[in-house]
Amino acid sequence: MAQNALLTQFYQPLLNHWSKAHGFRTLCELTCRHFALVFGVEKITLAVAYKSHWKIMLDMTEAGIQFHLPPLVFPEHSDVPFHQMHKAVRQHRPALLHDIELNPEPHVPRSVVSHTPKIRLLLPLVRRGIGIGCLTVDLPDNAATRQLQEDDFLQLSTLLAAELDAFLLNASIQDEHIGRRSAERELKISLQEQRHLQQQLQTLHDISFQLWRAHSMDHMLFTAVDEAKKHLDIDRMAIFLFEEGERMQGTYGTDLQGNTVDEHYFESAIPDMWFATLTLEQKEYLAIEENTPLYHDLKQVGFGWSAYVSLWDEDTPIGWIACDNLLSGMPLRDYHRQILKQFGFIVSQHLVRRRAEEQLIRLNTELEQRVSERTQALLQANEKLEKISRQDPLTEVANRRVFDEMFAEEWRRAERHQLPLSLLIMDVDHFKHYNDSYGHAAGDHCLKTLAKALSSLERRAGALFARYGGEEFVLLLPGQDQQAARYAAKRALYAVQALQLPRENGADSAPDIVTISIGVSTIIPSSCRTPGDFFKQADLALYEAKSKGRNQLFVA
Ligand code: GH3
Ligand code: MG
Ligand code: MG
Repeated sequence: MAQNALLTQFYQPLLNHWSKAHGFRTLCELTCRHFALVFGVEKITLAVAYKSHWKIMLDMTEAGIQFHLPPLVFPEHSDVPFHQMHKAVRQHRPALLHDIELNPEPHVPRSVVSHTPKIRLLLPLVRRGIGIGCLTVDLPDNAATRQLQEDDFLQLSTLLAAELDAFLLNASIQDEHIGRRSAERELKISLQEQRHLQQQLQTLHDISFQLWRAHSMDHMLFTAVDEAKKHLDIDRMAIFLFEEGERMQGTYGTDLQGNTVDEHYFESAIPDMWFATLTLEQKEYLAIEENTPLYHDLKQVGFGWSAYVSLWDEDTPIGWIACDNLLSGMPLRDYHRQILKQFGFIVSQHLVRRRAEEQLIRLNTELEQRVSERTQALLQANEKLEKISRQDPLTEVANRRVFDEMFAEEWRRAERHQLPLSLLIMDVDHFKHYNDSYGHAAGDHCLKTLAKALSSLERRAGALFARYGGEEFVLLLPGQDQQAARYAAKRALYAVQALQLPRENGADSAPDIVTISIGVSTIIPSSCRTPGDFFKQADLALYEAKSKGRNQLFVA
């Protein structure tokens, strides 16, 4: 009966408060306080199955009640042996254990162990057939408590189980909510990064276009450095190109104010540093080091991240792009790696293309130069050939071929326009004798002297002086009548006489200087006369001049 009274004393005010209490924590504390009040309980533990682990949610000791959220991990040496609790939960039945000794840890000396016997109530909290918690209550061992039955606390177990279930559900919903919010935040960040990367890729495309449009290799390298810094969030950049003999040459770089500057003056051996091993030996496109010394003109100027992008022509390394964050100290972002690799690839492609183009242009220029030289030589050869084919080699005046062409042409022209055409045939007098006297070489020299004097006499347009053959010369005078022709012949006679070229006197009464005889003929061509007739007429006139004593002219 005493036991029933005790239970009523326990349950009635508890249930009374239960309906008014808000929250699982309050209910737990209420329960603990009632256990303390009615049964003199000093120690209670509430273990719960939290996120698939058994954890401690509430402790009541002499120090007071402590509610833990999130629940605590089970301590290694607990007052409540895990196996006792686990057994009660498995059986879904409250258990009352008598003669319990506290401090069961093996390392605690028996002398200090409290020997006050206790009764332990293990109250499993079960919902929908699943154990979700266990309340362990250590009751003092006395006459009243010894009367208690295991089922006396079934009602409490049901009530607590329902409340714990609701609490855990709520907590898991909240957890999920928080989880979703952080996932949303992460998604937002990753979307932003993606958008940024997309923008950067678009920028890369724009830069590539500008590199394509650059008007020279030099302009292309400047644009690469300048644009990349402006648009790809990079403080300093420089491009180095490799040369023969393991050396490298600067192109464009960045000064300490961030300006793009010409660094062609820079030339050195390829340095034996961390990035060289990574990029050239291990064939990495990108070598990055964070918190590393940063240099300008080989002097350390700060600390930060430094990246080297290797440039390749197929399997051959052709240079580096070096960049860092010296000026702003901006941290290296994930997208930098991807963007820098892409940028290196683009610059490599443009370099290779430009080099091939420049090589082609060089070859073309060389070829054009050679063709032009050959053409020039050919033109000169042709000119020479043309001259040779139209010039008498001994006297260097026009030859018989030129005369024949011009004679036919001028004949036609004179006939067409009904203009006079005059022809003078000049023959050196007694030239055979001259040769005989002085030798053939002297004869040649004499012919050259005569040709020179006679060819410079007539300068009127269309006039042609030519060597017709042997010691005979002709002078064709288009548009000139008989009077003009006679005058020209006279001047020719005088010119030869004026040369006063000595000549051994022959048997006849000829003068002792070289002379010529001239046959002159003039005609206005008509269809009933031929050029041949006209020439013969001049030749006959020459014959007349010879017969009349030489050193004179005869007009047909
Ligand atoms: P004529 O006054 O009647 O014209 O007497 P000629 O001796 O000049 O006439 P002929 O026709 O008998 O002789 C022409 C000479 O001209 C013969 C040849 O030895 C000489 N002759 C012709 N061509 C050349 C030449 O290129 N060089 C030299 N040295 N002599 C030439
Ligand atoms: Mg002759
Ligand atoms: Mg002669």
